[in-house]
Amino acid sequence: MAIEPDYLRLAREGRLREIGEHLWAQLENCRLCPRSCGVNRLKGQRGFCSASADLELAGYMVHTGEEPCISGQGGSGTIFFSHCPLGCVFCQNYRFSQEGEGRIYSIDDLARIMLELQAMGVHNINLVTPEHYLPHIVLALDRAVSMGLRLPLVYNTSSYVRRETLALLEGVVDVYLPDTKFFHRRWSMKLARSKDYPEVARSALLEMYRQRPSVVFSPDGVMLKGVLIRHLVLPNDASGSFDWFRWIRTNLGKDVYISLMSQYYPFYKAGEVPEVSRRITRKEYRDVQEWMLSLGLEKGWWQEDYGLDELAGDRIRHEFRH
Ligand code: SF4
Repeated sequence: MAIEPDYLRLAREGRLREIGEHLWAQLENCRLCPRSCGVNRLKGQRGFCSASADLELAGYMVHTGEEPCISGQGGSGTIFFSHCPLGCVFCQNYRFSQEGEGRIYSIDDLARIMLELQAMGVHNINLVTPEHYLPHIVLALDRAVSMGLRLPLVYNTSSYVRRETLALLEGVVDVYLPDTKFFHRRWSMKLARSKDYPEVARSALLEMYRQRPSVVFSPDGVMLKGVLIRHLVLPNDASGSFDWFRWIRTNLGKDVYISLMSQYYPFYKAGEVPEVSRRITRKEYRDVQEWMLSLGLEKGWWQEDYGLDELAGDRIRHEFRH
């Protein structure tokens, strides 16, 4: 029997709309993300992320370069949102995440985009850093369901998301795709002006696993439910790779799925920070790979040495025992 997204049941029960409206009310005193700006976005005020109540999208596409279990054969229906609550100095998407490129869409437009992507044969709807637009997304999802949406929802995130906000999404999200960016505060401060990223991200991961403790794949290897942890290795261990994997092994076990990425490139303002102004070395990458394997973390994918492509997942190969 086909596995359907849990949000279909929530929509039938009217819960999806309730969750969307609950999130929408938070725009009046915005604490959607850990920045907790408290601005009234409904009146046009903007906080750290620079998003007002208007939904702004940078674009959407059939993404064939994500991990094999996300892109599959048909691609991932990826939606890119303008603005970002985290704001890393090395962001490859800085033109829309930090410089605000994009244009305004309505909630109905977003619902139609989801359906358009579904009609193009993608395996899922992949929301890239959606925290600041969660109210719009859940309301759009509710409308899209009534128009025939049936695809798994992938929540593709920096992990800078409040545990309380994630708890509201229980049953809404099928697949969590969290980044693990900085294990240590001194690096999150330096590279993203966030003193609480490490604690927030660890708490978020625990909540994601509480919601999706086991992984379900389709017969052709696409993840239908579960969590896939991304980790981008930064130069000089600025991401705290060794501590991240020790923490993951201790707190989440050895059966977690991991996507290890080598594609770091000093985009945007990274050139102004000497420690992260270069690519990683092969030795830096291999040391992390060996550390993961020594901990028994053998499920998932990793990129080739020196992932030279710009998009997450490009040149990822099946490397671990899957
Ligand atoms: S979503 Fe934006 S405005 Fe709201 S708390 Fe986060 S950074 Fe501030």
